[in-house]
Amino acid sequence: MKTVLEKITEYDKRESRDIIEAAGKIIREGGLVAFPTETVYGLGADALNPDASKKIYQAKGRPSDNPLIVHICCMEDLERITAYIPEKARKMAKAFWPGPLTMIFEKSKAVPLETTGGLATVAVRMPSHPAALALIRAGGGYVAAPSANRSGRPSPTLAQHVVQDMNGRISMILDGGPVGIGIESTIVDFSEQIPMILRPGFITTDMIQDVIGEVQMDPGLAAPDSQLPPKAPGMKYRHYAPKAQLILVDGVQKKVQEKIRDLVEKEIVSGKTAGIIATDESCKNYPCGIVKSIGTRSDENTIARHLYGILREFDEMDVEIIYSESFLTPKIGQAIMNRMLKAAGHQVIKV
Ligand code: AMP
Ligand code: MG
Repeated sequence: MKTVLEKITEYDKRESRDIIEAAGKIIREGGLVAFPTETVYGLGADALNPDASKKIYQAKGRPSDNPLIVHICCMEDLERITAYIPEKARKMAKAFWPGPLTMIFEKSKAVPLETTGGLATVAVRMPSHPAALALIRAGGGYVAAPSANRSGRPSPTLAQHVVQDMNGRISMILDGGPVGIGIESTIVDFSEQIPMILRPGFITTDMIQDVIGEVQMDPGLAAPDSQLPPKAPGMKYRHYAPKAQLILVDGVQKKVQEKIRDLVEKEIVSGKTAGIIATDESCKNYPCGIVKSIGTRSDENTIARHLYGILREFDEMDVEIIYSESFLTPKIGQAIMNRMLKAAGHQVIKV
């Protein structure tokens, strides 16, 4: 299959509108189009067409029990795909949609089981990226879209990442430039009595509590080494992972840097190519190894934005082992560490 790459940056221009119209037609006819959202690039198909959803699983190599998020472009469209919308979910939609929030509802008959990985619930998001909203509208209103990477690889934050993973497998890639947030949406499950966070993201626990009060965290996430399976089927798979072995070093900054310097020196002596994930503040403190800054500690959003790109850059350099500083903070740091721990297969050295 030939994959067409189209640049769309000025959404109000006729040319971009025509491209999005053509992309929407591909989706309405059951094909696949990758497109930018404010979180990561998505791989879109008609969510109400079981054959189209199946094509997503094939293109990604995604396990068939890992459900897709259905993307909508207006609140009225939520009714058709859900059996019931709790009042708290309406409040959340008012506060955070369009935006990086996914909510899980009991599904209606309109949603095929192929889209929900066999579940009776459906995950729904209304993204804020103008190209995403325009494409969803042009594609018929319901676009199933997981991240546009091959299963297990880091999520794409540039169109070029999608080309690396999907060239020849899908009909079109819309290039809207680098994404803004860089990690996937926060997922909140409203199908149970007390809402539950199944995946942390840019919308933090505090932000959610401010709107609806009590919210719980999936216990399968809170304790990474526990035997409890996570409630979002996708969170149980190795994920977001670079080809190299990734190890996190956690503790007081000064000690972390000393430890990484030590470890990297040893790797180099044993003949390995070692990478370091540092920050703008700490880069200068690492004399050996391939050092990359992920962003600045004074603005953790920069760290989220560059996380997946940096993992892919190390892949291209054939680095064998990567040591990374850790980034736990009460805000988006929680989501960053959730992704990093998964990418590292939970290998953490405490100092
Ligand atoms: P991705 O599409 O790569 O952002 O992954 C979507 C995530 O949402 C995966 O972890 C899925 O398992 C999760 N998900 C989607 N639908 C549901 C659902 N109905 N119930 C629980 N988790 C879901
Ligand atoms: Mg994904």
